[in-house]
Amino acid sequence: MEQIPYKIYLAEDELPQAWYNMRADMKIKPAPLLNPGTGRPMTAAELDGVFCEELVKQELNETDAWIPIPQEIRDFYKMYRPSPLVRAYCLEEKLGTPAKIYYKFEGNNTSGSHKLNSAIAQAYYAKKQGLTGVTTETGAGQWGTALSMACSYFGLDCKVYMVKVSYEQKPFRREVMRVYGASVTPSPSDTTEVGRKILAEHPGTGGSLGCAISEAVEVATKNPGYRYVLGSVLNQVLLHQSVIGLETKAALDKYGVKPDIIIGCAGGGSNLGGLIAPFMGEKLRGEADYQIIAVEPASCPSFTRGKFAYDFCDTGMICPLAKMYTLGSSFIPSPNHAGGLRFHGMSSTLSQLYHDGYMSAVSVEQTQVFEAAEQFARVEGILPAPESSHAIRVAIDEALKCKETGEAKTIVFGLTGTGYFDMVAYEKFHDGKMTDYIPTDEELQAGFDRLPKVE
Ligand SMILES: *Cc1c(COP(=O)(O)O)cnc(C)c1O
Repeated sequence: MEQIPYKIYLAEDELPQAWYNMRADMKIKPAPLLNPGTGRPMTAAELDGVFCEELVKQELNETDAWIPIPQEIRDFYKMYRPSPLVRAYCLEEKLGTPAKIYYKFEGNNTSGSHKLNSAIAQAYYAKKQGLTGVTTETGAGQWGTALSMACSYFGLDCKVYMVKVSYEQKPFRREVMRVYGASVTPSPSDTTEVGRKILAEHPGTGGSLGCAISEAVEVATKNPGYRYVLGSVLNQVLLHQSVIGLETKAALDKYGVKPDIIIGCAGGGSNLGGLIAPFMGEKLRGEADYQIIAVEPASCPSFTRGKFAYDFCDTGMICPLAKMYTLGSSFIPSPNHAGGLRFHGMSSTLSQLYHDGYMSAVSVEQTQVFEAAEQFARVEGILPAPESSHAIRVAIDEALKCKETGEAKTIVFGLTGTGYFDMVAYEKFHDGKMTDYIPTDEELQAGFDRLPKVE
């Protein structure tokens, strides 16, 4: 009889008291954000105009390993955390693998993903600063949904710029945002200067994430009492998401389990950065070793085929420059079905760790991802998000390798969310209409050619 239960739950009072900041233990720190105008590191004062003050402090903090989680945020976390760490006994049996597979499930809240962990923190600091509201962009809508929930909890106004095609084609998440009182504007819109400019140049455009970011930033900087918030990529978001990894480690420690392999999908890097945080900390301090694998779509391969360079975070080229693995801010990935993994760049912290050899990365094709998603859904009972299913794919592949070698490795992966709003993608998969687009070297080169020149 195995002693480890199907679900390892932590008690409410075992919820982490502080977030863990990996940068404090990194010998080579991630490169600073640069001001695109001056080419010099962004100062706190410059960032304060766009972001909340406390979040700017967190963004720039590379010295404090632990940052206390305010009680108000912990109280909100208690509504849906600690989240379960599940031993995938049924999947193991189905695969016939000696590997031991665990997954940390973050889909157990209305936003359906891990994004709420940072949304609630960002809304809290905005409220504490006495702001009226926040602005943001959303593509498929997971981040907008999480943020609107967080804002309604703290009584903040929430203005979401949603990529127009998604706004029109994906009404469900849009309406969830409105349930929580957010105003949702299809982008590009005529409510901003940049939006009007884009509409004049490209009438009838369906919009893009980069354009929605530019609109949200403009509204935040032009309206007193508003700031802009972002749901991934930034250091502060990885910091908040460390709650995932800290809980995972606490649950495993209860049973004396040490993972061999830790796997997460990577869009901007926030769930992966959060999941691996305490494990990476041990690795950085030389206390333990783990194999860490980032999984990205073959259609948007920032780590595996990108360049480690300074680049813009948005297509409008108004945001600060970040040094990261990037495909270039002009790169527009083919419309695959993992909306949350379509960002051209990657967290600068994870980029530095990858560059220094602390983690590896693989890219996977879309149909293989949906095959894994369905295999998982049929035995583990959870309908996974397409993004999360990238991690499932590689977890299954690693477990199958163990089957060949007879090794009983312990594999942990992040199951970031549920896929109920992604049924059109599943439909395409079922009907054999899903394609696996992989950009050519020439297409990627076009993106690299337009990288900003930074000395
Ligand atoms: C947004 C999203 C992701 C990717 O974002 P990261 O910042 O890389 O974590 C992954 N899974 C789900 C369900 C998402 O909504």
